[in-house]
Amino acid sequence: MKRVALYPGSFDPMTNGHLSIIHRGLETFDGLIVAIANNTKKQPLFSVEERKEMILSAIGHDPRVEVTSFQGLMVDYARKRGISIVLRGLRAVSDFEYEFQLANMNRKLNPRVDTVFMMTGEDYFYISSQLVREVAMFGGDLEGLVPDPVLHALQRKFADAAAEARARRNEPLPAPSQPPREKEKP
Ligand code: ADP
Repeated sequence: MKRVALYPGSFDPMTNGHLSIIHRGLETFDGLIVAIANNTKKQPLFSVEERKEMILSAIGHDPRVEVTSFQGLMVDYARKRGISIVLRGLRAVSDFEYEFQLANMNRKLNPRVDTVFMMTGEDYFYISSQLVREVAMFGGDLEGLVPDPVLHALQRKFADAAAEARARRNEPLPAPSQPPREKEKP
């Protein structure tokens, strides 16, 4: 029997941290369902459709990976798909508390679902979608932190902000401060 795990998240947008978990997940599982949480309460930067396209082009064609979206409780979606393993990534101690609560809540809601954690690689432990959004908003360089399709989508979305940031950075340095003038004599 094939072992397929559900990898749920917001992926707003996908980062190289997510991609690394997917690649490593595929070494353990026969297949993965990457499920974008369509959380109507959060105001996302990218639509579900945009996020899906970015994930698909970052992964490339791989019949072992399905990219989809779901609404409502993740455990209900897992039940609907007949999945009993949820894959999550762990970055730091700060992730642990939330993930621990979530995994236990999910087990309470659906005892058939268990969560498997993978530690992030040392190159990715500081990458989060939220930080990526913030850096992009101010025109920062995200090379190497997100897959190329995401980089291009962010560049398109924040083209104006990036131009402004570049202009700011190219501004001539402020003139060195002048020595205080001698007090004018009356
Ligand atoms: P959520 O909104 O549910 O936190 P995210 O899209 O932020 O979803 O992340 C989905 C999963 O991927 C979570 O388990 C998260 O811990 C994990 N993840 C996010 N960024 C990284 C990273 N840089 N390295 C490893 N795992 C990560």
